[in-house]
Amino acid sequence: MRYFFRPKFTINYPEEKTPKSNRFRGLHALRRYPNGEERCIACKLCEAVCPALAITIDSTRRGDGSRRTTLYEIDLFKCIFCGFCEESCPVDSIVETGFLEYHFENRDESIMTKEKLLAVGDRFEAEIAENRKKDAAYR
Ligand code: SF4
Ligand code: SF4
Repeated sequence: MRYFFRPKFTINYPEEKTPKSNRFRGLHALRRYPNGEERCIACKLCEAVCPALAITIDSTRRGDGSRRTTLYEIDLFKCIFCGFCEESCPVDSIVETGFLEYHFENRDESIMTKEKLLAVGDRFEAEIAENRKKDAAYR
């Protein structure tokens, strides 16, 4: 009977949510600079470091001499959300957002294309930048 009078632990999701760490690793995103230019320089460090071989990158040299990706894909069925890609990126381009409320209805939707990753980055840029500031303050 004592449990009957104790506070309930049940969370009424999605109306109520449990707290989440700033360092939670959710859906990936590719970030842009404030002028709209994509940050990624196609160095392929994230592809090399990924233990699950989930990242595929192709690149080309642009007219202005800079190198950019023509293909950037992450297979979320392979990804183990270790965060190594984020750690390895020299320009803070690939990040893992705190976003976890996503789902797939078809098998091929597990592939996060460059366009989808940039769209996630555009959507969560304010939150990502805020978390970067907090992380820097801890160091
Ligand atoms: S989080 Fe880890 S497993 Fe997932 S894409 Fe990045 S490096 Fe690969
Ligand atoms: S996301 Fe970062 S680590 Fe990966 S290819 Fe682009 S610049 Fe290099």
